[in-house]
Amino acid sequence: MTDIKSMTLEEITQACRDMGEPAFRGKQIFTWLHKGVTSFDGMSNLSKALREKLAAQYYITAPTVARKQMSKLDGTIKYLWELGDGNCIETVLMQYKHGNTVCISSQVGCRMGCAFCASTIAGKLRDLRPSEMVDQVLFTQLDSGQEISNIVLMGIGEPLDNMDNVLRFLELINHADGMNIGMRHISLSTCGVIPGIDRLAELQLQLTLSVSLHAPDSETRSRIMPVNRAYDVEELFAACQRYFKKTGRRISFEYSMIDGVNDNDWQADLIAKRIAGMPGHVNLIPLNDVVESPFKPSKRIAAFQKRLQSHGVTATVRRSLGGDIDASCGQLRRKAMEERGELPK
Ligand code: SAH
Repeated sequence: MTDIKSMTLEEITQACRDMGEPAFRGKQIFTWLHKGVTSFDGMSNLSKALREKLAAQYYITAPTVARKQMSKLDGTIKYLWELGDGNCIETVLMQYKHGNTVCISSQVGCRMGCAFCASTIAGKLRDLRPSEMVDQVLFTQLDSGQEISNIVLMGIGEPLDNMDNVLRFLELINHADGMNIGMRHISLSTCGVIPGIDRLAELQLQLTLSVSLHAPDSETRSRIMPVNRAYDVEELFAACQRYFKKTGRRISFEYSMIDGVNDNDWQADLIAKRIAGMPGHVNLIPLNDVVESPFKPSKRIAAFQKRLQSHGVTATVRRSLGGDIDASCGQLRRKAMEERGELPK
């Protein structure tokens, strides 16, 4: 059986031709899939014979809501979806003035090992398929009744560690006959997988690249982000410069502020030095307290921001949403795994 929602319009159209059907059936099927129809019987403009033929060869993914939490503070909704194989992933819907933004996961778990992040605690179980990323956007919209205009790939997982599927997801979600979400309304966040950044640069997509920086010096960064031992921060900045040269797109650097670890003035100075010549933007994020982690939120966010600004670096502080609902980075999934006894001791 084949996962039909992971197929492009062209592939579905070709499959229709192979079945002796006219090509326009492809577009009809594609449109139904991206409207959230969950069975071929729901595709009412197809003949019964074709619906049966499709059902014999293909299946349609549809996650179920395992949990749903709504913030009383700001209306943020966090979904824990159960996938076809019983694995769970998180999606967060946030309401901003510029539109509803959905934060989606790209893998079941993560193997990057960042010391402050809950997503990586039990490692990576598997990559998400393109359909499973589309479904997070699609079913969040259907369940919440709120139209989604922006997507951030900032949930569980490292998108550039699942790059083929992520690129296909982008093609699907961007498609005019699908959800039609513009590339300029999509952000992709990476912990710094350099070959992935270079590959993305070649494609010259109009999306926004976010880089999880979290420390400008190798020693600190290697301590909190093991990926730095493979792709050192100095090479990472060089890759960002290449990306900017190639695409002309401004990079956003995420910087989660950790007490006594990455919040020193000299580190702000070093960021400014390394970012020079590239119109980057630093997004300071209040650290979310993860129970398992020894790190505590910094109390120097405003001072650090001032220091960056004194060097002419654009720095903003991210507003925290969903503080009452475990809304960050794998915390809800971790909680559910704990309750089911699935976490390693
Ligand atoms: N793997 C990608 C996508 C995850 S994005 C990446 O690393 O960029 C989620 C962002 O939240 C990343 O910048 C991540 O480093 C950050 N993050 C993870 N745990 C956090 C925590 N406890 N508090 C604040 N930010 C955190």
